[in-house]
Amino acid sequence: MTDLELKRRGLLCVVSGPSGSGKTTLCRRFSEVDSEAVYAVSATTRAPRGEEKNGIDYFFLEREEFEQRATRGEFLEYAEVHGNFYGTLKSEVIAHIEAGRDVLMDIDVQGASLIRNQEDPRIQEAFVDIFILPPSDEELLRRLNFRGTETEEQLALRLENAHEEMRHWARYQYTVVSRDKEADFALFSSIFAGERCRSQRLIPDPQLPGEQPELEL
Ligand code: 5GP
Repeated sequence: MTDLELKRRGLLCVVSGPSGSGKTTLCRRFSEVDSEAVYAVSATTRAPRGEEKNGIDYFFLEREEFEQRATRGEFLEYAEVHGNFYGTLKSEVIAHIEAGRDVLMDIDVQGASLIRNQEDPRIQEAFVDIFILPPSDEELLRRLNFRGTETEEQLALRLENAHEEMRHWARYQYTVVSRDKEADFALFSSIFAGERCRSQRLIPDPQLPGEQPELEL
């Protein structure tokens, strides 16, 4: 007899936290080492920073193109952050979830709220949200400065935005207080390990005795 292997729908994991919380690194690293996870590359109207590449870090779009795509309904969500538009393309998400892959989205609190309130049952069932909190203001400032790519003015704006963003942590199902890279990654990975085992996410299997989870999909 072969071992039982249960199939499941993918997770839609929304990760938020202020700039410098380490959320992008966590999402990227997890999707690189875990074969069941993919990172949803966002579109943005902001200019590339440093070594950022189109299609890898972001899809860098002119404002006009971003607006046209928004009008055509191509975004799952979009929001204005730090004076620029950012959005998640549906094409980066839905097909993966249906194929059982977990999608990681690194988005701001407005975008997270838009996804949380989506009526699409495929989104609701797949949704998990995690907030990454920096351990202190001192550490947050150190991390923001460490990048060395922002002006004083941009830094001040980001710190102000960080405080505003942090007010929303309690709306998230999970909160991770960032310590160091390895500890954060271990905690982050364990959230996925648990979420992947939830009975409600498993696709009914006629070989199993007893009641099956009810998926409305
Ligand atoms: P950055 O310019 O530092 O890469 O990102 C600025 C902010 O935009 C971050 O808080 C990031 O999470 C957020 N962001 C990135 N992509 C998206 C997206 O697709 N949608 C939304 N709503 N926010 C995003």
